[in-house]
Amino acid sequence: MAKLTISDLDVKDKKVLVRVDFNVPIKDGVIGDDNRIVAALPTIKYIIENGGKAILLSHLGRIKSDDDKKELSLKPVAARLSELLDRPVTFVPENEGKSVESAIDEMHDGDIIVLENTRFQDIDNDFGKRESKNDPTLGEYWASLGDIYVNDAFGTAHRSHASNVGIAEAMKKAGKPAAAGYLMEKEIKFLGDAVANPEHPFVTILGGAKVSDKIDVINNLIPKSDHILIGGGMAYTFLAAQGHDIGKSLFEPDKVELAKQLLKDADGKIVLPVDNLAATEFSNDASREVVGDDIPDNMMGLDIGPKTVEKFKEILKSAKTVVWNGPMGAFEMPNFAKGTLEVGKSLADLENATTIIGGGDSTAAAKQLGIAPKISHISTGGGASLQYLEGKDLPGIVCISEK
Ligand code: AMP
Repeated sequence: MAKLTISDLDVKDKKVLVRVDFNVPIKDGVIGDDNRIVAALPTIKYIIENGGKAILLSHLGRIKSDDDKKELSLKPVAARLSELLDRPVTFVPENEGKSVESAIDEMHDGDIIVLENTRFQDIDNDFGKRESKNDPTLGEYWASLGDIYVNDAFGTAHRSHASNVGIAEAMKKAGKPAAAGYLMEKEIKFLGDAVANPEHPFVTILGGAKVSDKIDVINNLIPKSDHILIGGGMAYTFLAAQGHDIGKSLFEPDKVELAKQLLKDADGKIVLPVDNLAATEFSNDASREVVGDDIPDNMMGLDIGPKTVEKFKEILKSAKTVVWNGPMGAFEMPNFAKGTLEVGKSLADLENATTIIGGGDSTAAAKQLGIAPKISHISTGGGASLQYLEGKDLPGIVCISEK
């Protein structure tokens, strides 16, 4: 069954509680990257343009002390939101109590309120981490403030907190709707539906540091994929499992047997690097050379080599669905970024394919390359997208009402 979405609902004159993901990098009150605020705009605009009242809830960072509260207020985020929308946004420096209730009572249609960081509820009370441990009374309280609840915070969908799951459960109990926002809807459409029922050929590209982080993703995607291209540090444990020399490359000795098993289960679908850019040490300026699939003892593989790039490109050419998670090498160092950037470019060049970038470092690479507009979907979640690709149910999505 499909999930209820914001466009299924009439928001006119309604108090709409929206869980957004405003967990932006912030230092001394200055926002480093406002992408997450921008990503929430379609849902907020829909509400205010259709005569609803938008009451926004989000966490920001982790709150362990009163000092954290000073650093992690949502006040600067509310100010940035106001600039982006070019209209007033009221910031309420609390998220529970009289000041919140009166501010909501005074709202007119089209108004926007940002409540203070939901994780301020993680200290100074008898329950302990009321927000992060999902104190049901907190979810019930927030639910009592509105007529409709919208979850647009995909980045926290793998967690069961009061402001995403508790509130949704309480809304449903009270006979009120809990819907997905536009951003959440897009994440479900691509990371959920497109990956569960891909158009073939379906190519999965995996990279990043460790096999252990991606085991469940590989297990889930082996039966669905036609090819699984593996690069990055995790490739070397697979190469070792095949009996190759991997020199000083990243290696998880306790995962060799598992890598052998995965290679067997994948029955030829897993494609490993045939050459590598190796270096004497983990440094951009280290002396480097392209080697084959055996790495000399004194070197480490830090990127896939040119023949591997060509091989991956050839496979990608005919793909109809591609999902990519994790860089092909230590791409933060410019001398070892080529493999990752070339893979990104070939995704951008695909014309009739659904291309999905599953969060984290591959998202950063896509931005660095400026290819974002040519990708069907770039996930805003890190941990959440990985768990989705593992085929797991995410509590923040499960709790949304069905249509
Ligand atoms: P992950 O968070 O698992 O996606 O891993 C991303 C990290 O893996 C990045 O910081 C990369 O620098 C690192 N990485 C990718 N390939 C390699 C490699 N061959 N050797 C060492 N680190 C790598």
